[in-house]
Amino acid sequence: MSIAGGIAKAAENVVSMKANTMQIFSRNPRGSGYKTYSRQETDAFLKIRSANQFGPLLAHAPYTMNLASEKEEVYTFACMVIREDIARMDALGMEMLVFHPGSHTGIGTEKGIENIIAGLNQAITGQEQITVLLETMSGKGTEIGASFEELKAIRDGVKHPERIGICLDTCHVFAAGYDIVHDLDGVLEEFDRVLGLELLRAIHFNDSMMPFASHKDRHATIGDGMIGSDALIRIIQHPMLKELPFYLETPLDDVGHKQEIQNIREKIGEIR
Ligand code: FE
Ligand code: FE
Ligand code: ZN
Repeated sequence: MSIAGGIAKAAENVVSMKANTMQIFSRNPRGSGYKTYSRQETDAFLKIRSANQFGPLLAHAPYTMNLASEKEEVYTFACMVIREDIARMDALGMEMLVFHPGSHTGIGTEKGIENIIAGLNQAITGQEQITVLLETMSGKGTEIGASFEELKAIRDGVKHPERIGICLDTCHVFAAGYDIVHDLDGVLEEFDRVLGLELLRAIHFNDSMMPFASHKDRHATIGDGMIGSDALIRIIQHPMLKELPFYLETPLDDVGHKQEIQNIREKIGEIR
């Protein structure tokens, strides 16, 4: 994930890592600022992406954005960010924007979900090309979105559900108590029953430092966590998932990520 150095540089990085998609932050992940890309920069980016046949690209909304909040300042800010970033990322040609549904901080899940729905409704016009993804969460604190049912309730409540999809984070669902290690098919069946597998648009591909159902969100590098390499390789090779874009959010720098991608490709037999 990167934003520093510009978007053309980030795309070049992807090529050098032998990856074919990327996730960027739509703005400063821990603040509110963003860079406006020059025409030249945007053109360079578009050229690299088409020359290298990138798959669908994903933008990630900032962590400071809490659409579930009841606090006026927090909520007004979140509404502004989601509205602006849907428009900005759509204009940039990003296929998807993912966000953390939010934390209700005491007002309860139901009220939190109402706030999220209202926030999305003031942001999505129905005219955009971009799909807005709800991320599956670990359920730490008062986080909303640790169950498929909560994500379903958000999607069902919005005016333009056709613009909403799901991003499954392997670390988060494991920490939330979905057993992707011993019963991947069962979890996918449940996803299909509650949400519909056609809504699954992206995978955040991470191992988990924290144990199953711990409701703690700590990413580990692939194979170095509690999910483990075998289970993660089964996920990336699963017939229902393997055509989806996978995005690493593991705690590594660019050099580490390049190696990690190569290791994964070797394990799934793309490199012998
Ligand atoms: Fe996320
Ligand atoms: Fe994630
Ligand atoms: Zn996480």
